[in-house]
Amino acid sequence: MAPGEKPTVLIVDDDEARSRSLSAELEVHGFRARILDDDYAALEACRGLDPDLVVINGSLPRRKGMDLCGAVRRETHQLTPCLMIVPEDKDIIEDAINSGAHDLLVLPERCTAWAQRLRCIVQSQHRTSQAAPDVEVVEPSSVDSLARSGFASRRQFLQQVATGLDRVRDTRQHVAVMFMDVDRFKQVNESLGHAVGDTLLESLAERFRSGLTWPEGVEGHFVHFGGDEFAFLLTPLPHVQDAAKVGRQILEMMKEPFEIDSHEIYASVSIGISIYPVDHLDAESLLKSAETAMYHAKEQGRSNLQFYSRSMNSMAFERLTLETSLRKALEREELAVYYQPKVEVLTERIVGMEALIRWNHPDLGIISPNQFIPIAEETGLIEPIGEWVLETACRQCLAWEKSGLPRIQMAVNLSVEQMIKPGLAQKLSRIIRRTGLTPNRVELELTESMLMRNVDDGVRILQDLKRLGIRLAVDDFGTGYSSLTYLKRFPIDTLKIDRTFMRDIMVDPDDRSITTAILLMAHSLRLEVVAEGVESQEQLKFLRERNCDLAQGYLFSPPVPTQEATDLLAGRTALANC
Ligand code: C2E
Ligand code: CA
Ligand code: CA
Repeated sequence: MAPGEKPTVLIVDDDEARSRSLSAELEVHGFRARILDDDYAALEACRGLDPDLVVINGSLPRRKGMDLCGAVRRETHQLTPCLMIVPEDKDIIEDAINSGAHDLLVLPERCTAWAQRLRCIVQSQHRTSQAAPDVEVVEPSSVDSLARSGFASRRQFLQQVATGLDRVRDTRQHVAVMFMDVDRFKQVNESLGHAVGDTLLESLAERFRSGLTWPEGVEGHFVHFGGDEFAFLLTPLPHVQDAAKVGRQILEMMKEPFEIDSHEIYASVSIGISIYPVDHLDAESLLKSAETAMYHAKEQGRSNLQFYSRSMNSMAFERLTLETSLRKALEREELAVYYQPKVEVLTERIVGMEALIRWNHPDLGIISPNQFIPIAEETGLIEPIGEWVLETACRQCLAWEKSGLPRIQMAVNLSVEQMIKPGLAQKLSRIIRRTGLTPNRVELELTESMLMRNVDDGVRILQDLKRLGIRLAVDDFGTGYSSLTYLKRFPIDTLKIDRTFMRDIMVDPDDRSITTAILLMAHSLRLEVVAEGVESQEQLKFLRERNCDLAQGYLFSPPVPTQEATDLLAGRTALANC
């Protein structure tokens, strides 16, 4: 799919009313939809139209839907995802998964909910098929005279920013605009000639294209305005510091020299950043301010980055003090592990605990992991911290067992920064062995997006971990790629349904259907399912009726310090719902 083009969806369904309403819904969401009621024609259309997605009714007579799914997958070399519409029926669901369906749309979920999921899938396909960031270099030869002076590309970029702003308008997320230029570029041109200067800019763009990675959850774009100016758009931006993270990555990437015509050129850049909605609410002002900030960065000595507003810089300063004190937190024993019970839905017995870290800051009080884990990840501190959590949790689990309390599973969260470091399995194995706990009592929780960063690497890392005998869980499931069958490739044991689904199941019938679908699909993939964020008896009843295996949430207990967790496990204090 070329940028700006509408993704095409082929709908193969003999239920006319449903396909028409799905098609209308998809058009509203920016898709081009084409309806076919015949499997033969559908396969032909796959060849001609090269659709981005195919939606097939899994209940077409004589297994036609199932067969078509397999044929489309073969025809497109497994590239085009097929979604199957299926009823809440275990056998049909299993059949659809075995036919290679990418994901299932389980009835009676309504078409209105499907369009959003289809969009997620198309976007994720797009991301996984082009892991490198999206770049638009405006070639002087291919643009009009306006563009040659840089205006047109600026305008294109501003349009892109405006679209990015629209997407986050009603959320609490941020957008960052970054302006970058090459330090002393004029000198390169003057001393080595324009040809070398141009090649330098091309090599620089190429270095970004192949090496730049966007933080988790962030969609990034960069454009070359012509000359030595580049701009970046990060949207949505869950944490403002992610912009600094990208900026630092760029500065880091400039440290290696460029080899051009037997010259070794060291180039550096200066970067300015402005943030929506902190600095401005419109695209143009954001770009202007990013440029202003870039000049400040140059004043600071080049090879530097600056946020536009003073408040942003002071926030960076606060962060710096947090970073300094986090470095000392481990040795000062300010970190603690809390435990939250996982309860068997059927018996309401505690069968596991999840270890969740807390930072007891001497001046600021208890700091949530959501606040300091990103800093720990960025500074590399996550490694010693994560290893300390694992060791503490394993020792605690064994201590409970030795004192005669029930044998339970211990779940520990793994950060992406830990996952991508080489030698993870050996490191974790050494720690677990040191504590004396049997590895099969340990479960590592990883998120969906961590696995999808690079599927092949992910599979390899998980296989290494699996060989140790530990269990693996996918955390926050449903918030990212929404494709369960994709997970078939990973050796996982458990799926944790994100708590946003629990929050809404009592009010939103679509969330009820999606949760039901996830449970059915997970069970046919032989996965154990944990529902997170269970806060009410109604939610528990809903889960019980659908054979959900485990539940976790305030209904039973929030994460608590060791002594309270011990009391819960020993039955000295009852779970909150009893
Ligand atoms: P998570 O792994 O999804 O953990 C569940 C979060 O949901 C916890 O937040 C927990 O307190 C909260 N929670 C549990 N039950 C309920 C409920 O019924 N309702 C609501 N509204 N919330 C509930 P917490 O402890 O603040 O942790 C936040 C996140 O920080 C965790 O999300 C996890 O991603 C990360 N984290 C925590 N400890 C560690 C750690 O040791 N290592 C790493 N890498 N990440 C950690
Ligand atoms: Ca977790
Ligand atoms: Ca979670």
